[in-house]
Amino acid sequence: MRLPLVAGNWKLNGSLAANRELLQGVIAGLPAAGVEVMVCPPAVYLAPTAAELAGTTLLLGAQDVSTQDQGAYTGEVSAAMLRDVGCTHTLIGHSERRTLFGDTDDVVAAKFVAARAASVQPVVCIGETLEERQAGDTMAVVRRQLGAVLNKVGVDGFAGAIVAYEPVWAIGTGQTATPEQAQEVHAAIRAQLAAADAKLGDRTRILYGGSVKGANAADLFSRQDIDGGLIGGASLKAGEFLAICEAAAGTDS
Ligand code: PEP
Repeated sequence: MRLPLVAGNWKLNGSLAANRELLQGVIAGLPAAGVEVMVCPPAVYLAPTAAELAGTTLLLGAQDVSTQDQGAYTGEVSAAMLRDVGCTHTLIGHSERRTLFGDTDDVVAAKFVAARAASVQPVVCIGETLEERQAGDTMAVVRRQLGAVLNKVGVDGFAGAIVAYEPVWAIGTGQTATPEQAQEVHAAIRAQLAAADAKLGDRTRILYGGSVKGANAADLFSRQDIDGGLIGGASLKAGEFLAICEAAAGTDS
């Protein structure tokens, strides 16, 4: 059985004071069991967030990682640095990184390698744009994006990593994929993993992301191949985020 995971991507939001208040609210209401919960603050807030999380079950993830280990790469943050301040996970290939900052499939694969080399577990974000969906290319796009990583690192290199399917047209738009649309793509992603290795297909957690809220989470998470969510806007409100975590915990059996 795959333990559901709910990860909050705070994006470029927050302050020391606001983060503390949000974290206190989340920690106070965390489900006792049945779900793993992670927060992904902006890089400068990782260390203070790690201090706030000490002694709790909340996991700490970064929003991105450098392809480089060290050296003359101004502005970059390496995977070893993320590990050093307490991150267990990092997002890679978020659609905002792909579309706004030029992260190609090759760059995403290189970030995967860099994260794993420092024992930071990648959450590989994949998903199609509206134009790609309308052109009937959804499956080809997610297959290519996942394949770029899988082909580079192989089955053993991928084991333990997490996939997040996030249709770009559903991110921050309030327009959620229907549970049927999401499940269809999740099943295809799992089939791609299973074709590489049956255990990889069985064990890899595939999260859905794109305008998930307390009101639609349970329906999405009840689908066979949806193992939790990557949450943007709704992760900035403790009550809403906790409702999503509860919905995920309710699907664990
Ligand atoms: C995201 O940015 O990963 C995301 C899913 O955002 P939102 O929940 O706001 O659509």
